[in-house]
Amino acid sequence: MTDTSTTHETILKIDGLRKTFGPVTAVDGVSLDIRKNEFFALLGPSGCGKTTLLRMLAGFEAPSGGRILLEGTDIAPLPPEKRPLNLMFQSYALFPHMTVAKNLAYGLEMDRLPKAEISRRVEEIMGVTDLGQYADRKPDQLSGGQKQRVALARALVKRPKVLLLDEPLGALDKKLRERMQLELKRLQHEVGITFIIVTHDQEEALVMANRMAILKDGKLLQCGSPEEVYETPSDRFVANFIGVMNFIDGTVGQDGSFATDGISVKLSTEIRGPATLAIRPENIMVSAGGTGIAGKIVDMAYHGLDRVLHVKVAASQTPLQVRVSANAAVPHSVGDPIHITIDPDRTRLFKN
Ligand code: ATP
Repeated sequence: MTDTSTTHETILKIDGLRKTFGPVTAVDGVSLDIRKNEFFALLGPSGCGKTTLLRMLAGFEAPSGGRILLEGTDIAPLPPEKRPLNLMFQSYALFPHMTVAKNLAYGLEMDRLPKAEISRRVEEIMGVTDLGQYADRKPDQLSGGQKQRVALARALVKRPKVLLLDEPLGALDKKLRERMQLELKRLQHEVGITFIIVTHDQEEALVMANRMAILKDGKLLQCGSPEEVYETPSDRFVANFIGVMNFIDGTVGQDGSFATDGISVKLSTEIRGPATLAIRPENIMVSAGGTGIAGKIVDMAYHGLDRVLHVKVAASQTPLQVRVSANAAVPHSVGDPIHITIDPDRTRLFKN
């Protein structure tokens, strides 16, 4: 458990994986290379097939097609308990009548490991997960976050090559969830085991993952680092799913200029004709001195660090969300006229 370097070596190859339940195609030909020691997130809306994909990796669901190769070996014939992958359930599934230490030792006892080895490993994992002081407590004497750590420790103590986590933080409140996101990330780095996490929470994936895959209707839409997916979403769905995105419908003329009523942006693009310009709220600037695109503030939301202005620029478009610092020099009020500028280099263009 000492090697924590992230390499580009593939540990798990998912190749054309499919799963159908009668007429429903839950996973539709997904191929992914998961790298050794990475924190990988499977992300997508409810029903996109993430849990089914994870369950096929764990061996609880037989694929309808495709292959799963762990370090080059097809693991399809192996039952769940023989796979060097461990699944941590959302419900934690701790044994209520056993102490924390016993909960952790249980799986190793089932594997008939020598007693001394079991104690050594349980001690070690309690150290890593900061659970030493709770060794003799039962699960109902622990907080939500502590239970979550015990579940994690129990999955890790068996030293799987890959740890699968299905919405591991789903049961926690927002504050604890945010703390545990960082803790999980630290832990993953420390133990140097590949983590594959399922989440429907895009913020969570952005915070924790080295790379992420976005699924929709059982299909893989995009796979990349959080930065890649956020900055260069592959299509309109991904752009909208990750973070907040403004979409402006218009037309690209022969000179590469995007235009719609009241808005014109000079782009360098090969796309011509009807298209949608996508831009994040933080990439629209409020311009001083009456230059830029004229609009009117129709709504405003305060978020602590920043404010989001809703700016109507053209009759035909939904208002644009513009993020400004909460202590901006010029106060903004609903009803005020405003001018904005769009940085062409920070936009994405999708052909319609
Ligand atoms: P959620 O975030 O809501 O848990 P998910 O992305 O994990 O969703 P899955 O649970 O993998 O989605 O389900 C994918 C699709 O497969 C859904 O349409 C679901 O109804 C269907 N499905 C899943 N399991 C079964 C099953 N055992 N029998 C029939 N259909 C199923």
